[in-house]
Amino acid sequence: RRGLVWLRNDLRLRDNTALYRAAKSCGALAAIYITCPQTWQSHDDGEPVVAFRLACLRELQQSLAAHNIPLYFLELQTFAQVPRALVQIAGKLEIDALFANAEYPLNERHRDAAVRAALKGLRVPVEYSTDRTLLPPGALKTAGGEAYKVFTPFKRAFIARCGGDDFAPLPLPRKMNDEADWPKWIQVQGGNNLVRTIPERLQGYGLLPDGAGRLYGWTPGEKAGARRLRAFRGEIENYADQRDFPGLDATSHLSPYLNCGAVSVRQCVQMALARSSGHWVGGNDGVSCWLGELLWREFYTHLIAAFPRLSMHKPFKPETDRVPWSSDRDRFRQWYAGQTGVPIVDAAMRQLNTCGWMHNRLRMVVASFLTKNLLIDWRWGERYFMRHLLDADLAANNGGWQWAASTGTDAVPYFRVFNPYSQSKRFDRDGEFIRQFVPELRHLDRDAIHCPPQLAGYPLPICDVAQSRKHAIAVFSGLK
Ligand code: FAD
Repeated sequence: RRGLVWLRNDLRLRDNTALYRAAKSCGALAAIYITCPQTWQSHDDGEPVVAFRLACLRELQQSLAAHNIPLYFLELQTFAQVPRALVQIAGKLEIDALFANAEYPLNERHRDAAVRAALKGLRVPVEYSTDRTLLPPGALKTAGGEAYKVFTPFKRAFIARCGGDDFAPLPLPRKMNDEADWPKWIQVQGGNNLVRTIPERLQGYGLLPDGAGRLYGWTPGEKAGARRLRAFRGEIENYADQRDFPGLDATSHLSPYLNCGAVSVRQCVQMALARSSGHWVGGNDGVSCWLGELLWREFYTHLIAAFPRLSMHKPFKPETDRVPWSSDRDRFRQWYAGQTGVPIVDAAMRQLNTCGWMHNRLRMVVASFLTKNLLIDWRWGERYFMRHLLDADLAANNGGWQWAASTGTDAVPYFRVFNPYSQSKRFDRDGEFIRQFVPELRHLDRDAIHCPPQLAGYPLPICDVAQSRKHAIAVFSGLK
């Protein structure tokens, strides 16, 4: 049996469900990666996330080659072109089955259904596996048979069902005998040819790794992801106490790897449970807290699968579509450039712009500032994050933005608006984080740095935080 594995956001050799199952059931196996830059751009996939994926893919190509699995590369433009191209490829490569790991945003699901239907004509079965999440979306339902809309009951139900070590990573995929009978390239109509070289850059995407192969200081790939996971093993016990302090850098920094699949969520769970004798709760606070964060990721992925409107830029709570969002482009520009005059917001946005990543606490602070204090449409912020994060993920990002904007599934009422100054004093007490990213304020002491006096070279706050908070609350309460 000849198989083809279609890689997407699962760019690793180890513990890759589709790859493992394909290798187990096929005597000869090839892999394919398809780029669709036009669709990706319409999804706001930015240069950082796309460059990170391509760099991970390059490393994976070598690991696959060592398993005698050739990796083919195909450049198309849109998802709509994929089914036809795969039909041609399946015919020319004479494959008997196609394997992939399931993806849950709406357009991905439509694409995958169309691929399955198209290959049916050739009698080539398509197997989509659960791999991005621990449980398949839809597996957990409320007593009323519905998808969970609130995190805490979802988490409770998850732990009640899966509290033990049900998610052991898979063994390495079986090595193929040889790859000699796979062609070097084949011609595909309506796109570029199927080749074995991964281009440096794609049409519309220009970001390249630096001389040491890093993107914004991050080393892409499965090996680097595994190193990060190992390094975090020694720090996880402090996670509960330290994770909210951006200056301490006490979180795992695994999100770019988890997002493109260079690290699997099962590998993360296995590492964490090994530190708590297999207990999800009650074993070790750091471990429980970190597993809880992985469950936020799980929750948002289940949510995007259950509610198609989330993939369509619609608010989870329909009534919040009536918020008269401001479209003040100047203020939006000040926000994203880190020039709001509110030091913690500016430091956070500058962290995003220079590192392709932002600390979770600060993501909440800047999102609240944009959507509540500036009353700017959450979709503007969501899009900016998608275009600039190395870990940009529709499910987590949309979930995070709608949480902050009170348009989403959050159980906390709309009148909880983060005060950026109190957040700053509480979580960056000495101002170390601000000093790192806002050098204009470096000379200020720990009292002045959170809310500086008028300074040459640093803007005055672009809004009055107390007044704008009141206004936002009035707007939201008017929706009832
Ligand atoms: P850790 O604290 O070490 O957590 C471990 C892993 O759990 C993370 O790598 C991530 O996969 C997952 N995780 C942690 N917190 C969350 C959360 N709140 N929601 C979903 N998953 C979580 N995360 C993304 O991966 N991609 C995004 O595009 C994204 N956008 C966000 C936008 C906003 C407005 C907010 C508030 C949060 C967003 N998050 C996003 C969630 C979170 O901020 C990041 O996952 C986290 O900061 C990544 O750092 P880490 O790997 O060190 O996380």
